[in-house]
Amino acid sequence: MARYRESVCRQCRREGAKLFLKGDRCYTEKCAFDRRAYAPGQHGQRRTKITEYGMQLREKQKVRRIYGLLEKQFRSYFAKADRQRGVTGENLLVLVERRLDNVVFRMGFTNTRAEARQLVAHGHFVVNGSRVDIPSFQVSVNDIVEICEKSRKLDRISEALAAAARRSLPQYLEVDKEKGRGVLKALPKREDISQSINEQLIVEFYSR
Ligand code: SF4
Repeated sequence: MARYRESVCRQCRREGAKLFLKGDRCYTEKCAFDRRAYAPGQHGQRRTKITEYGMQLREKQKVRRIYGLLEKQFRSYFAKADRQRGVTGENLLVLVERRLDNVVFRMGFTNTRAEARQLVAHGHFVVNGSRVDIPSFQVSVNDIVEICEKSRKLDRISEALAAAARRSLPQYLEVDKEKGRGVLKALPKREDISQSINEQLIVEFYSR
């Protein structure tokens, strides 16, 4: 699978917003965006006028980068969201929010979505008692996500659980940290996604 191998902090600087891709580091003064809040590269500090298309593109790229998705995957989520009833932009966010790697991250079992993706792919989580190693697996209402018995003592997971206190737990999740398990109580709602996202711009981008 294709992977992004550059520094992820460049992505925050490109999007002009903190995307919180590096876990704890994002909350310290080492955050690259806090130190250099302009686009990366030789011409990053130039003033440029952004077009309507540019705004739509940047919003789409921002959400894609927050969730660590490639263009093809993201476009297929959009196509699926467009086929569903309701508001396409919100459907899109709910679909990406229900990914197993995102749910694991939101539950506080990992520090970042990238780490969640790796641990899921390496088989450290079970859903309703069965091992699931597909990061894009869609978690449904009342599904129980658990850390595998053998993986509970992993340093990465215990460190993440300790650090997760600084992130608020979304309303749609319930987590028992002691038992290393959580449940999706309801479908995520738009207000559960606190990062500033204008999903309408993404809809406009793909509807050109
Ligand atoms: Fe973005 Fe700052 Fe985190 Fe780097 S440290 S990923 S720039 S929020």
